[in-house]
Amino acid sequence: FDLTDIDAPVVAALTASGTGLPQASGLEDALFASDGQITKRPIRALTLSALAPRVGEHLWDIGGGSGSVSVEWCLAARGATATTFEARADRLENIRRNADAFGLSHRLTALEGRAPEVLEGHPPPNCVFIGGGGSQALIDHLWQILPAGTRLVANGVTLETETLLMQAHATHGGHLLKAEIAEAGSLGSMRSWERARPVIQWSVTR
Ligand code: SAH
Repeated sequence: FDLTDIDAPVVAALTASGTGLPQASGLEDALFASDGQITKRPIRALTLSALAPRVGEHLWDIGGGSGSVSVEWCLAARGATATTFEARADRLENIRRNADAFGLSHRLTALEGRAPEVLEGHPPPNCVFIGGGGSQALIDHLWQILPAGTRLVANGVTLETETLLMQAHATHGGHLLKAEIAEAGSLGSMRSWERARPVIQWSVTR
């Protein structure tokens, strides 16, 4: 953290409660304001590992939702910055609230608009995350504009996005991961595995 971050409400609250903010990626979902559209903790941890933030790097977070991935990107590496692109105004509010709560408003910019159009005219990133709005047009566009060496990670849960990412992997190479996670929940007085929808993750370096 830099000095501004130390005063952040979330950090302050956790410190006051004597627990402090965990240093690993994959923070509790409840630490973020969201309407439920948020990359859940275990998948977020896998995603941050794939994004692999380094000191001073810049992220484009496309389909930002709550901004949780951008927040964790900024927390993970000193001086890292993020631009979060989100189509829905109500979610943009959550992104800004979260940036503020973590004391990251100076490092996290939230912009309203639809990818790929909204990406126009912004300084090139070191890394791109597609958490929403994935399409052939978006991948083609990114492939054209991103400098060689840019890392790209895309998550998908729908069959349509899965098809897109499998095709992108065949065309551009990289690494394709399928995460099928189950968590214990209650079934009457007993417990049972509750399966999350499988997530497909494509990682590649341009
Ligand atoms: N990673 C996010 C969750 C993403 S949910 C988090 O952890 O909070 C996917 C988001 O993509 C939704 O908020 C949706 O509004 C947004 N989205 C869908 N299509 C988009 C597009 N073309 N451009 C920008 N955002 C888009």
